[in-house]
Amino acid sequence: MSSQFSSLLTTLFRCGLALAVWLAASGLCADGGKYDPPIRVHPHPPDVKLERPPRLEDSRAFSIIVLGDPQSYVKFDINQPLFELLTAWAAAQKEVLNVKTVLCTGDLVEHNDRVLEPGRTYEERKDGNQTSANQWASVSRAFERLDGVYPYVVTTGNHDYGAENAENRNTQFPKYFHPARNPLWEKTLVAMAKSASGQPTLENAAYEFTDEIWGNLLVVTLEFAPRDEAIEWARSLISSGKYAGHKVILLTHAVLDTNGKPIERSDYKVSPRNEGEQVVEKLIRPSKNIRLVVCGHSGDPRTMSALKTERNAEGKPVPIMMFNPQAISGWDGNGGNGWVRILEFRSDGKTIKARTYSPLFAASQKTESLAWSTDSKDEFEIAIDEAPSSQ
Ligand SMILES: [Zn+2]
Repeated sequence: MSSQFSSLLTTLFRCGLALAVWLAASGLCADGGKYDPPIRVHPHPPDVKLERPPRLEDSRAFSIIVLGDPQSYVKFDINQPLFELLTAWAAAQKEVLNVKTVLCTGDLVEHNDRVLEPGRTYEERKDGNQTSANQWASVSRAFERLDGVYPYVVTTGNHDYGAENAENRNTQFPKYFHPARNPLWEKTLVAMAKSASGQPTLENAAYEFTDEIWGNLLVVTLEFAPRDEAIEWARSLISSGKYAGHKVILLTHAVLDTNGKPIERSDYKVSPRNEGEQVVEKLIRPSKNIRLVVCGHSGDPRTMSALKTERNAEGKPVPIMMFNPQAISGWDGNGGNGWVRILEFRSDGKTIKARTYSPLFAASQKTESLAWSTDSKDEFEIAIDEAPSSQ
């Protein structure tokens, strides 16, 4: 254990050195903390070629890749290329993992639009040394790896609203993630609802997919702590004649706590809003076709996962899966050790296998043995019973 840990540290130190050299060469290093630094966009980091990329366990399956909250990658300049490493890796797995799409759980940035008090510098802040403009530019840059590769789905988190943490529903999200951004959304994006600003945006949107075995799928994303209007829009959409026969995957930021219980209350200023428990009560349980819920938000240095199974109105099991590794290396650590979730939709048409993998650890022979987290919360199978309920 200790030798494994020390070899991990050695490797990460080497990676850090390599990254520092690259950052210095690219001009991304800290500029001494000016009051209003210019927007700095890092150049794309080099591709990582894995000697042993992950494979499907079931060769007829398809997969969906889940990226947890990116905020801790983008709030520090030194971490930013690590998130792009993950999107670059996801793009490269399209064939080998038969990837249908990529979901991101929100909190794309740590601070949507923070204002620095006169006389203070960004470098003094322990919760990130990047301006809001730099954070948005960085996360947007990372998703360029997926534009034209996947019709990916991104949801919004509490940190994507207000100045720093959901003080209101103002967000820069639509400026960076707008419907015309990704050419592959032209065919998959089938509906958008009006955000709190009154404009239709991708904060509340639906994307259609099909699979020979699993049939029609609809991924619906809802804004952070959705307003009643957003929940009603989703309810009406998924129960309409057009989509009532689709299997719905709901992506929204905050549903489960790390203890596996739906979130009942929070202290955010934004109002009105629905907490996780209310989303379960108002949308998930009454629905006939929500079959999987993916969320993030809840963090803990000891765990990156939680799972709870609800039942929908048809009696079908609805796994609610929380995946968010942002604190796993410490709240102000490297952003999440590169962990991603691979969901394998098996060819039996009812089983989802979840695995948790780090392309960062897999990139070096020194740490390759740590690239899979086999904790029971990180690797498990869920059966979504397709048989009619017994009467
Ligand atoms: Zn959050």
